[in-house]
Amino acid sequence: MPRGELGDLAMLSNPQPRPAACCIVFWDYDTQWGADRSRSPEGARWSGCTEFENTERLLELHAQYEVPACFAVVGAAALPGERPYHDPAQIRRIHANGHEIASHSFHHEWLPGIGRSRLLETLRRSKDALEQCIGAPVVTFVPPFNQPFDHASRGSFSLSERREAGPGRTDLPRLCAALRETGYRVCRVSYRSLPERVRDWFVGGSVDRPVLPEAIAGLTCVRLNTPGGFAEASTAVLSRCVRAGGITLVYGHPHSLHAGNAQDERWLAPFLEQVQRLRRRGLLRVCLPHALRVGD
Ligand SMILES: [Zn+2]
Repeated sequence: MPRGELGDLAMLSNPQPRPAACCIVFWDYDTQWGADRSRSPEGARWSGCTEFENTERLLELHAQYEVPACFAVVGAAALPGERPYHDPAQIRRIHANGHEIASHSFHHEWLPGIGRSRLLETLRRSKDALEQCIGAPVVTFVPPFNQPFDHASRGSFSLSERREAGPGRTDLPRLCAALRETGYRVCRVSYRSLPERVRDWFVGGSVDRPVLPEAIAGLTCVRLNTPGGFAEASTAVLSRCVRAGGITLVYGHPHSLHAGNAQDERWLAPFLEQVQRLRRRGLLRVCLPHALRVGD
């Protein structure tokens, strides 16, 4: 799996007229821990076992198209035990295939309402379990449910987080401060300002723009700019990125690889093929989040 280009990310934030075009692929590896904590009204519609089975296919596809990815893993899955809650051997295999292992909390908790002491605990336990499993540092974090969304200084407000989690809630800056305190360096974040959401509502959808790494509470963050999956909305951002530079972040769940939605293999395979083609033409880099820096 090629890794050489990953060290050349300074271009992304240098004051150049056009930053390098870069794509990051994330897989949120929830396992049964995530299925048990589904916030969908009808509960989880998938079983944790499909996460492990489909991951084997993902490893084949990523090797075929030579695209390294970042797997955000629920830390408890790295402890000894059986599927559908645990498979440390598969997590080691993902890492050995050249992919980054990130933390996706310890038990896939909903972070806005967890409180500070439990927040610090899940961040620490997950990092520790994953590092012991793979024998390498884990520095990237992906919040379950892509929340907290609330980031008031950037005009992003979540009424449901404020209502459900109350005044002591974990908003995005508080999460980032806790991540720094527990030894993480990078976080995938998800927020969108109120004016942008109003505009999305008027046009009946959104096509986001490429992003650059940004600092939130001193932590390097990259904002998710695709809606999940590998269909037209994601390829539209990728095309903008190739034209103008900046980062495209795409993500999916292994358990959805054959779900028939935008995360399905029928969208993923052409997307990876396009990334491979653009990369061979020198128009796109494939990045891993651990190499990102703000203001290099
Ligand atoms: Zn998740």
